[in-house]
Amino acid sequence: MTFDLLGLSDGVLRAVTDAGYETPTPIQEQAIPFVLMGRDVLGCAQTGTGKTASFTLPMIDILSHGRARARMPRSLILEPTRELAAQVAENFEVYGKYHKLNMALLIGGVSFVDQSRIIDRGADVLIATPGRLLDHFERGGLLLRGVDVLVIDEADRMFDMGFIADLRYLFRNCSPYDKRQSMLFSATLNHRVMELCYEHMNNPVRVAIEPEKAVVDQITQILYHVGQHEKFNLLLGLMKQEAGEKVLIFCNTKIEAEILEWKLNHNGYNAGQISGDLHQRARIKVLE
Ligand code: AMP
Repeated sequence: MTFDLLGLSDGVLRAVTDAGYETPTPIQEQAIPFVLMGRDVLGCAQTGTGKTASFTLPMIDILSHGRARARMPRSLILEPTRELAAQVAENFEVYGKYHKLNMALLIGGVSFVDQSRIIDRGADVLIATPGRLLDHFERGGLLLRGVDVLVIDEADRMFDMGFIADLRYLFRNCSPYDKRQSMLFSATLNHRVMELCYEHMNNPVRVAIEPEKAVVDQITQILYHVGQHEKFNLLLGLMKQEAGEKVLIFCNTKIEAEILEWKLNHNGYNAGQISGDLHQRARIKVLE
């Protein structure tokens, strides 16, 4: 399967080629034709499967006709975290480079006034986390009944993070479910996610990639059984083996992440740390 068989426009296909993608991933292959048809889509896929492009690419084509009105975004993508929202916004810029779509990113920790200014100008695409979106909405700076395309990304994480009441409130204030196109993506489809779909989606097609395909072929997984006190030396050994590579390490507590950052820097590595306590500006600096 190649991208040009999916029904996307030349502008989007060129942007995809510029991004270096050769073939669509399974979730893209399955979802894109349905999204272009205007169907509601329930996608079961994890991060890393290419699911972001599976909704952003066809959305760019859908939104290329029509114009945004002040304070009335035409589409809304909800993400559970600021980083995910920022990542989706970056993807939108890459894939939408041959289209003139206005995008607004509404996340906490970034200037409210600047965000309001972009919304006032009229946004084709609004990418947001629920908290900041509701802030703008409740202050009257934003109307949601013009949203024709709605994406709830990482729905299971939204539940885990306690956003469900916010989501239900937003659904009630958007255009009715039979007047808009809705897409919902989730790594797992538990009963809570399914209930949300039944209540707020219009006969969605279900696309899923099997969990065993969720790990990208290029990733090798290795498990080491080590005691607490051997962990850091093992890590240093592994870092030497992979010298020159970028390394991402997950810790189970904030304190542990801070200690590890300190230890790595002390051992000559350039390490940065991100946790929930960190201000958005500091997080962006670490990522950069
Ligand atoms: P996602 O699951 O949307 O977070 O995407 C994971 C990564 O795969 C991102 O870095 C994308 O840029 C990349 N990606 C998405 N679609 C493709 C594709 N068709 N071919 C190669 N890479 C892709």
